[in-house]
Amino acid sequence: MHTVVIQHPLAQCHLAAIRAVDTPSHQFRRHLNLLARMLFLEATRELTLQETTVQTPLAQTPGVILARPMVFVPILRAGLGMLDGILPLMPEATVAHVGIKRNEETALPQPYYANLPASLASAEVFLLDPMLATGGSACEGVRQLKAAGARKITMICVVSCPEGLAALDKAHPDVPVYTAAIDQGLNERSYIVPGLGDAGDRYFGTC
Ligand code: URA
Repeated sequence: MHTVVIQHPLAQCHLAAIRAVDTPSHQFRRHLNLLARMLFLEATRELTLQETTVQTPLAQTPGVILARPMVFVPILRAGLGMLDGILPLMPEATVAHVGIKRNEETALPQPYYANLPASLASAEVFLLDPMLATGGSACEGVRQLKAAGARKITMICVVSCPEGLAALDKAHPDVPVYTAAIDQGLNERSYIVPGLGDAGDRYFGTC
């Protein structure tokens, strides 16, 4: 599996800010949005382009357009925080949703909602979830996307850990991961350590 850890100094500053326990929700949102945007820019560095011709007010000149449409798939609910940061860069993208919650006792993924477009096969699909913890939600999300026809899927997460990366690699070695950190590992409740806590609660102010 191809894993890229974004080392950009600004990305690492945003990461430190969202890790800090005393960062209030409104600041957490801002830093997470910006960090997601930086991860997305890195994840799209190799996108396939199609050549075209552009007419400026003065002359014709070569230009490019994206070869394939984009679909963003936030895993509900914390993935919405990443979507808020990324969508302004690509407002014409389609937004699909998958709802996968974690059984807090077993830490197993429980799918409860999916709304996926028919056009996944021809799209660049980006699965968004800030935390790649056990990898359960990511593996289930990718499984659903592939079952719906997606062929090119990239996972973008803010914080990952060896357990989650290994699980995703085992189930879906063709899916590259872009992340700002590979943390130490999981605690007994399957939270990432040091991590940042519950990303959804912190983003939406429900903690
Ligand atoms: N989900 C979170 O929000 N945080 C973790 O540490 C693990 C899963």
